[in-house]
Amino acid sequence: MKDDIVSEYLKEQLEQLKDNSEGAVADYIPELAHADPEPLSVAFCTVDGQVYAQGLREGDVDLEFSIQSMSKPFAYALALEEHTLDHVAQFVGMEPSGEAFNELSLDGETKRPMNPMINAGAITVNQLINGEESSVEDRVEKILSFFSELAGRELHIDQPTCDSELQTSDRNLSLAHMLRSYGMIQDTAHDAVDSYVQQCSIMVTVSDLSKMAATLANGGTHPVTGKRVCSNEVALQVQSVMASAGMYNGAGRWMASVGLPAKSGVSGGIIGTLPGRLGIAAFSPKLNENGNSVRAKKVFQRLNKHMGLHLMATEKRGRVAVRSITTVEDEKADKGITTVIRLQGDIDFNAAEKIWRAIREHEFESNSVILDLDKVDEINSVGGRMIREFRDRMIAAGMDLTVVDSDGVLAQ
Ligand code: GLU
Repeated sequence: MKDDIVSEYLKEQLEQLKDNSEGAVADYIPELAHADPEPLSVAFCTVDGQVYAQGLREGDVDLEFSIQSMSKPFAYALALEEHTLDHVAQFVGMEPSGEAFNELSLDGETKRPMNPMINAGAITVNQLINGEESSVEDRVEKILSFFSELAGRELHIDQPTCDSELQTSDRNLSLAHMLRSYGMIQDTAHDAVDSYVQQCSIMVTVSDLSKMAATLANGGTHPVTGKRVCSNEVALQVQSVMASAGMYNGAGRWMASVGLPAKSGVSGGIIGTLPGRLGIAAFSPKLNENGNSVRAKKVFQRLNKHMGLHLMATEKRGRVAVRSITTVEDEKADKGITTVIRLQGDIDFNAAEKIWRAIREHEFESNSVILDLDKVDEINSVGGRMIREFRDRMIAAGMDLTVVDSDGVLAQ
């Protein structure tokens, strides 16, 4: 079968949005004001490295655009990698500000920006990268090479986009002056904004963004290159902040209606992560009044509706973990009877808890027990800890327990 049902589905979703012409391209950055408003594209990257990318028109899918504010979660990840969470938290908080992206939004007491997803927080985070003493050039180089690892290819900065934003950066310059006056940044306001704007001018495609997002969703390991780009803790921290603050003053509505950690950028992109499953990116340049792409947002809403991507959706999970509990005659066993407990599927906390309950409630006919794991696909760390614990307890209680685990799914 050659049919690629995922790509066909994605294409269909884009077709449905073909005639939607709502919104307007961002015009406060001159280079973005000239952008073609028509492109529409979407990409998915699974945590095992399958990338599906589709564009509405020929060429849409390969189009490069500036990453803008979608750079913020990744710059935050780099700062966290270089320093500790405690150190970074001295300069930038993790509370939603509920205000627009370019508001100052400082904590009343500490004067830290509320979170790394608003401009004030992102300018501060940018300054932490490569240390206080770093030149703008070295800092930007660090960011570019980290982003390239996340995308799995060499990225570049678009100088015209960067220059044109610097011409109209009064707002960001004033934020930087304020941050410097509170001792949150050390560089001159001009250098701090220059460095931040270069970060925003890194060029990406939807496929790049889907892989960058999927790296976070995959706990920091790149799903395609297999390289560990950041730690699991950093990936978790970044996605947590994206969930509460990624969509600025629309963050609450976004979480309720789409339900994924996400981040948008004024170039027209939105990225989202489904932890442990997917990285998603959609792109179309026309924005709504909150600065989010109208059609990219609609793509996310459609996917959410059809594919059940909402993090809070309570779907019934998998099959039951205890496949069967039976007895077999075995002359060498205690009382000539052995109980065979067959487990199956993926074993996480919920599954292990159910297994333990089934074992506790079972009336064993003899002391001889076989725990058969051959139909188990995977055991996560808490599932493994629990199974080892009840294996040890059964043995301590005097059971003659044999674990059958031909594939070694139960790590020691
Ligand atoms: N470079 C833009 C700014 O700082 C990014 C804003 C955005 O994408 O939301 O104004």
